[in-house]
Amino acid sequence: MPLIDSFERTIDYLRVSVTDRCNFRCIYCMPEEGAPVAPAGDLLTNAELIRILKIAAELGMRKFRLTGGEPLIRKDIVSVVANIASLAGVDEISLTTNGYLLPELALPLAQAGLTRINISLDTLRPDRFKRIARRGRLDTVLQGIKAATDAGLCPVKINCVVMKGYNDDEVLDFAALSLDQSLDVRFIELMPINWSAGDDSIRDYSIPALAPGSSRNSVQLYANTELATFRQSFVHTADDKILGQLDASQMRRAFVSTSAIQECIEARYGALERAEVKVNGPARSYKIANAPGTLSFISQITNDMCVNCNRLRLTADGFLRPCLMADGEVDLRSPIRSGASDADIADLFRITVLHKPAEHRLEDGLAPIGRNMSQLGG
Ligand code: SAM
Ligand code: SF4
Repeated sequence: MPLIDSFERTIDYLRVSVTDRCNFRCIYCMPEEGAPVAPAGDLLTNAELIRILKIAAELGMRKFRLTGGEPLIRKDIVSVVANIASLAGVDEISLTTNGYLLPELALPLAQAGLTRINISLDTLRPDRFKRIARRGRLDTVLQGIKAATDAGLCPVKINCVVMKGYNDDEVLDFAALSLDQSLDVRFIELMPINWSAGDDSIRDYSIPALAPGSSRNSVQLYANTELATFRQSFVHTADDKILGQLDASQMRRAFVSTSAIQECIEARYGALERAEVKVNGPARSYKIANAPGTLSFISQITNDMCVNCNRLRLTADGFLRPCLMADGEVDLRSPIRSGASDADIADLFRITVLHKPAEHRLEDGLAPIGRNMSQLGG
C-alpha cells in the first residue's frame, strides 16, 4: 500500500540528509563560521539509515536523493549508496553535491549504484567563487562535473541559485553551458530558509492546532500519538542570531524570479523550446534551439509546485519532515535507539505523511526557521 497523503498525493520520494556538516560556506546557506551541527552521536549511523530506508522502500518509496550538508564528506558515503542499491524496490538513487570531492568519488559512487547527480554551482568566475562558496576551488568543481559525466551519471544537472548583485549577470554564461554539453542547467530561486534569522517580525512563529471540526488546511493538520509528537516549531532566541549568512532583508533584495531569468535568456536566444528531462521533479524544462543540453527552472517561490509534491525529508539526525518550507518533524532516531519495531517506524512514516501540508505558507509569512538548509537537506 503506497503512502498517500491527505490531499491524495502519492509519496514515493525521500530526500535523505546524510550529514549536516559541510566543507563550503555558501552565503545563502550558512554563516562563515559554519551552521550549528548536531553532536556526532546524534547522526544516524549507516545501519540506522539503511534500516529506515528499507522500511521506506517497503512503504512504496522508490526514489532516494542523498543530500546534506555536503554528502560527500561523509566517510562511508560509497557504502551508504551501495547499501541503498541493495534494497528491494528502489528505482533511483541520486545525490546533490557541491562537487568538490567528485573528482575522486564520481566513479566509485556510480559503481556503487548511484544513478543521478546534481552539482551545485553558482558562478563560473574563480574570484566570485571565493565570495559565494567561500571555500573550495572552482576548477576542482569543474573537474568534478567532468568526472560525473565520464562516470555516466547523465544527465548531470547543475544547480545555480540566482542572486541579484551576486551572480545574476552570469545567467547567460550558465545558459551557454547547455550549448556545448548535454548538461541540464537548473536555475533555482533563492528560498527563504531561515529568512527569519535576524528578522524580528516573524520570529515568534507558531502553528495553531486545528479546532475540532475545522477543515484540514496546510500545516495545521495535527496528530500526536503515544509514539510520536509532531515537533511544530523552534523559536529563535537572540543567541541564535546567524552571522555571515545573507540575512532576511539581504535575501529578499537578492531574490530573482525564474520568469526574470527566463526573459533574460530569451532576449538573447529567442523563445525557448519545451524539453523533457528524465526524472525532473518539480522543474520546468526548456532548451535553446538545437542545443544538446537543457535549461530548467525551479520556482519554489513564484510558482506553486506543492500540488505535485511527492516527497518527505529525513534529517541527518533522524527526524522525518513532511515539508521543506514549514517547520514540523517527527523523531525517528529516539524510537530506533530505544527498540522500536519496523512496524512502529512504518507508523511514524504514516503519521508524518498525515502532516504533509497542502502547500507552503510563505505568502502568509510562515517561513521555516528551525533549521538551516544544510540541516534540512536541501
Ligand atoms: N551541499 C550540497 C550542495 O550544495 O549541493 C547539498 C546540500 S545543499 C543544502 C542543496 C541545494 O540547496 C544546493 O543546490 C544549494 O544551492 C541549495 N540551497 C541552499 N540554500 C538555499 C536557499 N536559501 N535558496 C535556494 N537554494 C538553496
Ligand atoms: Fe554546503 Fe551545500 Fe550549503 Fe553550500 S549549499 S554551504 S555546499 S550545504
